[in-house]
Parts: sequence; C-alpha cells; structure tokens
Amino acid sequence: MSQYQVDSRGYYGPFGGAYVPEMLYPNVEELQNEYQNIIQDPSFREDFIKLLKDYVGRPSPLYLANRLSEKYGARIFLKREDLNHTGAHKINNTIGQILLAERLGKKRIIAETGAGQHGVATATVCALKGLECVVYMGEIDIERQAPNVARMKMMGATVVPATSGSKTLKDATNEALRDWINNPVDTHYIIGSVVGPHPYPDMVARFQSIISEETRKQLVEQTGSSHADHVIACVGGGSNAAGMFYHFLDDEAVNLIAVEAAGHGVNSGESAATTALGREGVLHGSRSILMQTEDGQVIEPYSISAGLDYPGIGPQHAWLFKSGRGTFVSATDDEAMQAGLLLTKLEGIIPAIESAHALAHLEKMTFKGDETVVVCLSGRGDKDLDNYMKYFGF
Ligand SMILES: *Cc1c(COP(=O)(O)O)cnc(C)c1O
Repeated sequence: MSQYQVDSRGYYGPFGGAYVPEMLYPNVEELQNEYQNIIQDPSFREDFIKLLKDYVGRPSPLYLANRLSEKYGARIFLKREDLNHTGAHKINNTIGQILLAERLGKKRIIAETGAGQHGVATATVCALKGLECVVYMGEIDIERQAPNVARMKMMGATVVPATSGSKTLKDATNEALRDWINNPVDTHYIIGSVVGPHPYPDMVARFQSIISEETRKQLVEQTGSSHADHVIACVGGGSNAAGMFYHFLDDEAVNLIAVEAAGHGVNSGESAATTALGREGVLHGSRSILMQTEDGQVIEPYSISAGLDYPGIGPQHAWLFKSGRGTFVSATDDEAMQAGLLLTKLEGIIPAIESAHALAHLEKMTFKGDETVVVCLSGRGDKDLDNYMKYFGF
C-alpha cells in the first residue's frame, strides 16, 4: 500500500477523513462501504472503459510538442485532456460516478458548480443515462456563466440558484448538502474534484487516474520508457493533478509539480495560492490545507481562471505538500495568460486558462539535456475566449 494513498480510515497522513454533520452519516457510510467493491468489479471497469472510449474519445493523445520543446530545451509532452468530449478532464469523474450511482440504485443526481464546468459534465452524464439532475449554483455565478447554464438546461438539468451568503460556490455546496440530507435514499451527490469527505477524494482520484495510466503506456510507445523526469499539472481542488500523478506517486525519481493560481500575486490579497498562504483546517468535509483568517474564516480566493478559484486543495495534495513528495508552486494571472498565448502561437492549441498555469511553470524551470516532461493539458480554451479577448485586446 502506497504511503501516498488513502489509508483504511480515509486519511492521507494527517489529512482527509469525513467531517460531516451527523445527518449525513448514513449517505457517506453507504459510499464508504460500497465504493471499492463496486469500482473494482471487472464489469464496472469494462463499462467505464467502454464509455471513456466510445463517448469521451479516450485514450487522449500524448502529444510531443516539438516547437515548445525546442524553446525550453526539454522533451515536452502534452496529455491532451482538452480533446475529451465536453472539453476537459472533468468528464472522466462524472462518467465514473454515474456508473457508481446506477449500481447503488440511485435515481436522482445532485451536484454543485462554481463556473459551471462540473455542472455541465454532470448534466451530460445524466442525459446519457436518463437520470434526473439537479445542479446547485450561486445566483451570481448563474449571471456570470450564462452559456454553461444554457448547456445544463439543454441537457435537461434543473439549475437551482443558491441565494444565501456570497451567492457563489460555497453557498451552492451548502444547498447541495442540504438536499442530500433530505433525500438520502434515492439521490447520489457527484462532487467535482478530489475534495469532500472520505471516500470522495480517493474515488475521484481513481476515476481520474486513467490520465496517468494512459500516459505511462504512451511514454513507452514514444520514448521506450514509462519514465518522466517532471510531471506538471495545475491545481484547483486537484483532480486533474491527482489523476496525472497517480501512477507516478511511488516512482520517487519523478518530480511531481503542482501549480496553484497566484492571481495578482501571492501576497496581493487576491490569489488562490493555497499552500503558500494556507494553514491546516477542515473544509468541505475533510481535513486539509486552506486559506483562512487568524480566527478560521475561509478567505475568498481569486484567480482569472474560474476553475482554480478555490480556497483549499484536496487532502492527498496537502499530504504530498507536507511530506515533500510534491513540489507546490504558483503562477500569476499574467504568467498564465502569456503561457496560454505562447502555446497557441507555437503549437496551434488554445489551452484553458487553468491549464495555462501549468504551462507557465516551464518558464521558471531549467533543464539539463534531454529531460522528459509531461504537462497535463486539463482543458481547451474555447470557454475562455472572452477572457483572452479582454486581456490581449483581440
Ligand atoms: C475545473 C478545472 C480545473 C481545476 O480542477 P481540478 O480539480 O484542480 O483539476 C482545471 N482545469 C480545467 C480545464 C478545469 O475545467
């Protein structure tokens, strides 16, 4: 058993666990008791892989970015999660969870969403399976993210505005939890990243681990070895990074680099650089590292990319940080935007601004000779065109 994977109590070192109100115990315990048996069943694996292939379009290519490699003096591969159906890695998780919900006999799906990307990925698999879908979304986010709200509605989901507090993700999460407490028998709650009470962080990491499973095979085909010197991914809650790191965790020769969003600068008061600024505490049902005030109030995060705008990281990442297994760095809005434009000009690929944070770190690295680097291109930039246009004045 890897020291970097969840233990039988639901912990990664001191992080993780399930800190939920008593009224949620039955729901969470049902999942804790059932998830491993279901996921490890060969017929589950068969259904999961088949949908990933025929519906999502996997395996996603591992692309040797020649001009980018030339610029930085290393062999740089991009893991093309941007080519997945719906445009990012999030669908890997929602496919896994909808199959799990079916096997648990659940008829109704709920989810929370911030910018709407996870809401869309959830509404998509509910349409695929003909299941009722309710997505909680902050009232302010609903106004800001009209195209994603339209996508969810087209797919038959009900989008419920969260009208309390700051009317954003935190409040949507509270509403979703309230719904789950009131509907414990027929409803499954699909969480969108490697956060939340045990078993969610482990469950989501397992579904996303297809990313590194494919990558290692593809490296063998293209380089003759499954080894990479550096593996880089951006971190919001941490699901694309968890999937990208998964099959490299016990290979200590592989440098695992997690890039957080520094917004206007780590010390600007407007950032989402959790490990640089945060302290240990409990957020959304698990013990981890989060940005908080002296007296434990969660600090509102900021990033130009909606997907990285989260005040914590998942418990496994907190453990990778604390144990030193992972290298945690950050990139500012400006660095990410420049990196996004650079990839577009050199390779003809417009990345999601989240993914551009991972690319931005290449600029700060020095390579000796022929090192192999894999960058997780977590999503495509179509959804970010408005932001690119405003920033660069196109
Ligand atoms: C949501 C999102 C992220 C951030 O979420 P993680 O759970 O940290 O992976 C990163 N990239 C894209 C394209 C996203 O949509």
